Amino acid sequence: MSDHVLVINAGSSSLKYSLIDAGSGEALADGLIERIGESESHQKHRGPDGEAESSDAIGSHEDALRAALDAFETHGPSLDDLELAAVGHRVVHGGSKFSKPTLIDDALVAEVTELVPLAPLHNPANLEGIKVARRMFPDLPQVAVFDTAFHQTLPPHAYTYAVPSEWLEEHGIRRYGFHGTSYSFVSGQAARELGRDLSDLNLIVLHLGNGCSVSAVRGGRSVETSMGMTPLEGLVMGTRSGDLDPAVHGHLVRELGWSVDEIDKALNSKAGLKGLAGENDFRELSRLRDSGDANAQLAFDVYCHRIKKYVGAYYAVLGTVDAIVFTAGVGQNSADVRAVALEGLERLGIRLDPVRNADPAEDGVVSTDDSGVAVLVVPTNEEWEIARQAVDLVRG
Ligand code: AMP
Repeated sequence: MSDHVLVINAGSSSLKYSLIDAGSGEALADGLIERIGESESHQKHRGPDGEAESSDAIGSHEDALRAALDAFETHGPSLDDLELAAVGHRVVHGGSKFSKPTLIDDALVAEVTELVPLAPLHNPANLEGIKVARRMFPDLPQVAVFDTAFHQTLPPHAYTYAVPSEWLEEHGIRRYGFHGTSYSFVSGQAARELGRDLSDLNLIVLHLGNGCSVSAVRGGRSVETSMGMTPLEGLVMGTRSGDLDPAVHGHLVRELGWSVDEIDKALNSKAGLKGLAGENDFRELSRLRDSGDANAQLAFDVYCHRIKKYVGAYYAVLGTVDAIVFTAGVGQNSADVRAVALEGLERLGIRLDPVRNADPAEDGVVSTDDSGVAVLVVPTNEEWEIARQAVDLVRG
């Protein structure tokens, strides 16, 4: 039986896909269709013959998936020749209901639809991806892999907000956490790099990409995480504020007459690094910083300070820490962030090796040999994790 999984990540105006060998992690092909519904959409497909790009109007997610399948036909690999084991779907919010990857049927679609109020920006798009893939691959098992599932092990004292208890009971207002697929993958990889059993390890894992979060992982189980009911809470991100005094909302309404939607939009897409420095791409931010831009420097400082604050807090939550693990675009690539965020923590047993940190070797270790806490750089691979979880589920 084949291990090939088509992994689909549907956004509100985009469709990302990868064809993954779940055994080896090899991506046989991947692609991205952006600006779905606009007059000029953009499609990119990378297969065995290299990369192909095109720009045509693609009106819907159904048209987008059809365009992706056409790209497989034209540029390969041919899906007819490869036996697919499953289609794996990234689903952002699984609420309290889903703690594991789950086979998609009508009941699951109804349950994920019920969760839309908790993730109005993400779940509708994920559902659209599921709907069109079920229509196009009616005979294949389809598996939903939830970003929140890994954090369903959070203890009540970590996931409960100090608000009237009926807010949780009646409206599901609690912390859920996200990036779970990445944490699951990276924790396992870190244990392998350290040559230790994951069940014996206490880890602080920092997922620093466009979205940023941090988790305390004890024995492979999430016990704390920085994102909350939505992916807005916690660290400073590319365009999201992270932690903010909740009274700011009322102030914006009363003093500026802002609507709820305006506030949502500002905090999700105009804040974070972009809000502080006008730039959410970390590479651009670094260029601005190097050129002496004071706003870029402040944005960098706020970003690193927030990380340091969480590392200290999660150290206290865990009691002892075996390793701090950096992953995702910024975490894997910015030696500056790693150095500044962990600066001055030697008394906690955290010692970065500047040479290793500047250019991490294959094993990803960037701490000194005498550091009490290992510091690692581990590339994440959410697509592989989704493919693996999907295959494990359909194989039983
Ligand atoms: P991700 O969401 O994991 O794709 O991460 C995207 C973020 O990683 C963007 O802010 C990129 O600018 C940043 N990034 C990617 N490559 C690098 C790099 N070489 N150095 C610094 N930041 C990077």
